[in-house]
Amino acid sequence: MIPVTKTYLPDINKYKEYLNEIYETGWLTNNGDLVQRLEIELKEYLGVKNIILVANGTMALSIAYKLLGLEKEVITTPFSFVATTSSIVWEGLTPVFVDINENNYNIDADKIEEKINEHTTGIVPVHVYGNACNIEKIDTISQKHNLKVVYDASHCFGVKYKNKSILNYGDISTISFHSTKLFHTIEGGALVINDDKLYEKAKQMINFGFSKNGEIVEIGINAKMNEFQAAMGLCVLSDIDHIIEKRKQKYEYYLEKLKNNDYISFQELNKSSDINYSYLPIVFKDSETMVAILKNMNKEGIFPRRYFYPSLNKLNYINCDEVMHNSEDISERILCLPLYDSLRNIDIDKIVEIIKKSNIHSIKDSKDISMEE
Ligand SMILES: *Cc1c(COP(=O)(O)O)cnc(C)c1O
Repeated sequence: MIPVTKTYLPDINKYKEYLNEIYETGWLTNNGDLVQRLEIELKEYLGVKNIILVANGTMALSIAYKLLGLEKEVITTPFSFVATTSSIVWEGLTPVFVDINENNYNIDADKIEEKINEHTTGIVPVHVYGNACNIEKIDTISQKHNLKVVYDASHCFGVKYKNKSILNYGDISTISFHSTKLFHTIEGGALVINDDKLYEKAKQMINFGFSKNGEIVEIGINAKMNEFQAAMGLCVLSDIDHIIEKRKQKYEYYLEKLKNNDYISFQELNKSSDINYSYLPIVFKDSETMVAILKNMNKEGIFPRRYFYPSLNKLNYINCDEVMHNSEDISERILCLPLYDSLRNIDIDKIVEIIKKSNIHSIKDSKDISMEE
């Protein structure tokens, strides 16, 4: 079977060494030594000033909104993983969607201002598949209207924008370290916060509101990362350059094989940033073609992912009357192809062959596109 991604599992002996440490100290959670070490290593690797590790990426988003005091309406994108929207609703806020740009799949910054009103308190854009948003424009708008910006940078591990970490932009950037992400801590996530005061407040907020000297000074929640998660993170981090290099090779091999065809399109990449080879999304000419190709792949034990689908304005707990044309359209036609360090070139050959052969037939002739032998 070829899944869309395979979690990177580091050398078990390396992980066991950390487990031995945990067993010796008996310290399993509550800002332990391994969490602190991982924070230090990540700050250096990523090039950020303040990072706070938390239990998962969804919690990181929730805490970011709370920290910044967001209320009422928050402008966001309908083209993302469900957590971007669900965390907003979960915090009692109303997501106001702005459609995406049809070429780069990020929130269309030119359409943000028309959605701002007296209830708007923040903007939550997503750097989709790690591809940078129109950061300058969003920055200008947020300053003009006095809005807070939380970037959902869940896909952005190691991504640089204008030669510095993309996580440094916005009031807060959040990231996910879930097992399906490029860098992982089994489950996990982080907040990157430029403002030192806000950073100190965040440390309390993720730990029930306890201050350094053990007093409860504000309302908090339990969002702590534990030592077993941090141990996994330390192991994966020491192999990360190798993982990225491997993924880059696979990514480029795919591109070489898929170029020069007129039936799929690729995400338009921001020229001021690099990418981390987390995802390889391709968009087919229509939904029927995508579904048929997906079926043909599944028959061969290949499981790409409809990611993101559905467009989040369509969720059953969202009241959005407006059509998000580009987001709905792209979400019906996009597939993320399998991409991970141990994927073999012969697997890629097979995937590309299915895509190419499936497209030979007109999709109108048959619901289930047959493959040419
Ligand atoms: C993965 C992801 C999240 C949620 O992160 P978890 O660690 O799974 O909670 C949020 N937003 C985006 C865009 C994601 O891809």
